Amino acid sequence: MPDAHAAFDALCQHARKTSLVESIESSLCWDERCMLPSKAGEHRTEQIAYLAGVVHQRMTDPRVAEWLAVLVDSDLAVDPHSDAGTTIRQLKREFDKQTKLPQELVEQLSRVSVKGQRCWAEARKNNDFAAFAPLLTQIVDLTKQKAECYGYTDHIYDALLDDYEPLETTASVEKLLTELREELVPLVQKIAEGSRQPNLEILTREYPVKQQRQVVTEAAKRIGFDFSRGRLDETDHPFCTDIGPDDCRITTRYNVNDFGDGFFSVMHEAGHGMYQQGLRTEQFGLPPGSAVSLAIHESQSRLWENLVGRAASFWQHFYPVVQQAFPAALGDVDVEDFVFAINDVRPSLIRTDADEVTYNLHIITRFELEQDLLTGVLDVADLPEAWNAKYEQMLGIRPDSDANGVLQDVHWSGAAIGYFSTYTLGNLHAAQLFEQARIDLGDLDAQFAKGEFAPLLTWLREKIHKPGQCYTAAELAQKVTGKPLSCEPLVRHLKTRFGDLYGIS
Ligand code: ZN
Repeated sequence: MPDAHAAFDALCQHARKTSLVESIESSLCWDERCMLPSKAGEHRTEQIAYLAGVVHQRMTDPRVAEWLAVLVDSDLAVDPHSDAGTTIRQLKREFDKQTKLPQELVEQLSRVSVKGQRCWAEARKNNDFAAFAPLLTQIVDLTKQKAECYGYTDHIYDALLDDYEPLETTASVEKLLTELREELVPLVQKIAEGSRQPNLEILTREYPVKQQRQVVTEAAKRIGFDFSRGRLDETDHPFCTDIGPDDCRITTRYNVNDFGDGFFSVMHEAGHGMYQQGLRTEQFGLPPGSAVSLAIHESQSRLWENLVGRAASFWQHFYPVVQQAFPAALGDVDVEDFVFAINDVRPSLIRTDADEVTYNLHIITRFELEQDLLTGVLDVADLPEAWNAKYEQMLGIRPDSDANGVLQDVHWSGAAIGYFSTYTLGNLHAAQLFEQARIDLGDLDAQFAKGEFAPLLTWLREKIHKPGQCYTAAELAQKVTGKPLSCEPLVRHLKTRFGDLYGIS
């Protein structure tokens, strides 16, 4: 039997090599979404499925079980929050989960998700849900199989949620979302009746793409995204992925008649990117150097996109740059009118275009529909109608087409079921962290107005980025803010920001 230190070294070396394969997979995925010729999809699907299989094989290697057997009760595991303790705990958790999944199911899921994304893109373009339904049915079936393999006590959704938000439960998410919904629905109503309304025409004037590229790059630089360790490219559906400890890729899209689309996508993805860049590079490929959960990841993107990027104080600093880049569009627009326009709140059909207030209602619909699909209450064939009905009930509007309804998001086509609620959890974490940052760092708005974003980024680095997976998302919230995650900070933020803008008392 090897001693604990030898076992630990062997385990870490093995895990780092596995993450090397995963990072090759990430390179291929990035390339697929940014560069791939339209006919090259089949071969790419096989490449990615093969690597997914290799990763799974490595994660379930019987030697991992032997090393873990030596380590779980060793001195190295005594402090669960130390780097060694975290590595052992998290790799054990991952091993236990992975060994529950048959290799064949892993490869099937990988294949169907790559195929699904292509089929979905086509179906969305043609507004043809029926063309996507058979693959979606297959995806739901395979996802249910995955959940059954993992096992669960209360709800099938728990098993899936755990892949994205470790240790979170359906019941606790449902409680938070219900509380939030009860606050948001009347707030949306009050805003609609507000005494002031923004002039939205400002944002749909002509914003030449060349200047947009310069402006968004400048904004990302100023808030702290490190371009010597990352890139910004173009895609249809913006995302962020890390390929190596010094190679973080963010993407966006530009629309000449929509300033906000490109700009806020970059603020969002740069927030994700700065989290990746803030993880400890020497721990790359190991749990202490990895993101803790999707909700915490999303908290970082939403914090920079909304809490910073839509704040009046941010624009006190950055508006002159934008105004200079687009003299024809913004030469005659006051900063106050611009800030009001980028904070427009109104029920809309598309989640990714939604404002800070209604966004979470989009998430709640998906969270409910996913559960109905998994429990068999809802058939894939009936999904479009169920979707439309929920939108009517929740947001008071009915999608005019499936392309603008049930086909709008990529997630389900990529077999990511159980994912959506992490967006709203991310918003909750962001608001709670930001409230604490205000207490710890003083007048953040005064700092933003002067273009000083480093104090906030440094704070986030220390509190959130550097710990990696040494604490769970729930533990981080408790440790950094002294309270469990709740809706209150987000509700307070929304009521303050939009109450002021819309003249609501
Ligand atoms: Zn995001």
